[in-house]
Amino acid sequence: MEIPRLHPDTIEEVKQRVDIVDVISEHVVLRKRGKDYLGLCPFHEEKTPSFSVSPVRQFYYCFGCGAGGNAFNFLMELGKQSFSEVVFDLARRYQVPVKTLEPKQRQELQRQLSLREQLYEILALTASFYQHALRQPQGEVALKYLKTERQLSEETIQQFQLGYAPSGWETLYRYLVEQKRYSVGLVEQAGLIKQRKSGNGYYDQFRDRLMIPIQDPQGRIVAFGSRTLASEEPKYLNSPETPLFNKSKTLFALDKARNQISKQDRAVVVEGYFDAIALHASGITNAVASLGTALSKDQLRQLLRYTESKQVVLNFDADSAGIAATQRAIGEIESLVYSGQVQLRVLKLPDGKDADEFLKSAPDAVETYHNCLLAAPLWLDWQINQFLAGHDLKQADQFEQVAQKIVKLLNQIEDANKRNHYVRRCAELLSQGDSRLISLYANNLLAQLKKPQLRSTTKQPSSSPLNLPLSSESSLLEEAEASLLLIYLHCREHRQEIIDALEEKDLLFSFSHHRFLWQQIMALKDEATQPPGDSSNRLLSLLQDRSIDFPEQMVQVAHLFHLKEKNQWEDILRAPLAIRHAIASLEYVACQKYRRYCIQQWQNLNPVTESEPMQYYYQELQDAEERIQELEKLRQVNLLEIVA
Ligand SMILES: [Zn+2]
Repeated sequence: MEIPRLHPDTIEEVKQRVDIVDVISEHVVLRKRGKDYLGLCPFHEEKTPSFSVSPVRQFYYCFGCGAGGNAFNFLMELGKQSFSEVVFDLARRYQVPVKTLEPKQRQELQRQLSLREQLYEILALTASFYQHALRQPQGEVALKYLKTERQLSEETIQQFQLGYAPSGWETLYRYLVEQKRYSVGLVEQAGLIKQRKSGNGYYDQFRDRLMIPIQDPQGRIVAFGSRTLASEEPKYLNSPETPLFNKSKTLFALDKARNQISKQDRAVVVEGYFDAIALHASGITNAVASLGTALSKDQLRQLLRYTESKQVVLNFDADSAGIAATQRAIGEIESLVYSGQVQLRVLKLPDGKDADEFLKSAPDAVETYHNCLLAAPLWLDWQINQFLAGHDLKQADQFEQVAQKIVKLLNQIEDANKRNHYVRRCAELLSQGDSRLISLYANNLLAQLKKPQLRSTTKQPSSSPLNLPLSSESSLLEEAEASLLLIYLHCREHRQEIIDALEEKDLLFSFSHHRFLWQQIMALKDEATQPPGDSSNRLLSLLQDRSIDFPEQMVQVAHLFHLKEKNQWEDILRAPLAIRHAIASLEYVACQKYRRYCIQQWQNLNPVTESEPMQYYYQELQDAEERIQELEKLRQVNLLEIVA
């Protein structure tokens, strides 16, 4: 759509109304941190949030890649949209009346706006029409199919607003156009009727079919999916593309799944409507369905908005069990897997069943499915297993074949650490238990790999005595965080002290595995309280129970569960001091980060036109440096005491 020039009043009013947190949190999972919000940057790849949003200043900034600006900049950058497009979308969202410079264009805009509204209305009405038809004698076959074949409960049928499209050629047409007086053009644009080839009249798009409304994330019906009841081709038929419906950008059941996806930090993607419906009916409510055989980038991006750790499990039909078929299903998102932007897992159900069939196959199928879900291997691991399956590595030619495939795969992994991990793993697999061969194979694999691309390093701040190298800043942080967690886990009497100190200084754990452990601790806090005099450590045993659910994250923090090393004992023995020291370190690193941020802001401002913000950042910078000096002293004093 061509956006006409907007009236300055409109731009101003949108500026007044727009809230940056509101806008950004639609695209990024944000967590409150003091006055600001923090999340994973959508503009660069990262595992630890460094993307901050300030509601007070209506401003965002990424400490990792330096992206920054206001709500308009954010949307322009994210959607590669023009300024006018962004303002126009926001105007619609905040219901600001759009004024354009020419009256003619204004009319056109109003028409576009009201078109969408009217299409929503028609689709909602149509869904009720189909729902009603399902309960009439003509819908008997359809209702029976849902209840017996699909074993759906009344509640599920209602929840998904399932319906029936009657078999006549013009049933819906007559209802909407003749009875409800909607214009033919509008109903056609909603994708519900088609013009006859002769040019004379229209007929219903869906006839004698089971109807499944497709909703946008806000729950508005934007299209329909349908299934034949008379073994007609095509078996499944969707609405055509309309102003409201773009198949490759829509996920079925996302409106019902999004809260659970956020909560469980994981999304399940299945292929069919009935797979998704069956999962929801079984209580697995973080499931959505792609509307085709492949998952598109746009669909994946929608999902990733709701999961912080980017966990997506793909459970596609098992008749496409091989690598090639799965690769097709993953299609355009494969590159996002290799670059680490999504933690994609593959779930293949036994006996080639799809989710719907599987859930009906046995009384305990739901539980089994749940376990399969948790055990689903990462796409990379799954592929490697597939390479090995059915090959006899003792045969030289077969060994060579497998090794070549592995090299090809490893070459695609962008992250050096991850790549090294897989080199080691593949070498272990190839060695078939002969440990003497592992390093030989690992070296062979490494020799065949391309050199990893050097990432553009972030600009180092100017050198001053205040600057630690960033790498030692990060090890300082890791050590301090680990020390706090260790004390928390092992010294019950200091737990509240740690919580209070973090809260008072507004500090968070930066490393994702530490943050994960902290989240678990907070979740278990009430359950873990135990009567005085009980010397067992209830928290630890609860956490160890949870390790089964989160094996990967827990393995990274498992060393904190046991007191083995000497320095761990030292931390415990001098807990109050160690806590103060660790908190000071955390605050120190946070101040350093903020200081760099201020410098960058300050440098980017124009001294002539932006002297006010310049002064602000200069003052902030000074305050940060002062605090850094204080903390430096504090840390040294603590250190002396610890050593003494
Ligand atoms: Zn960034």
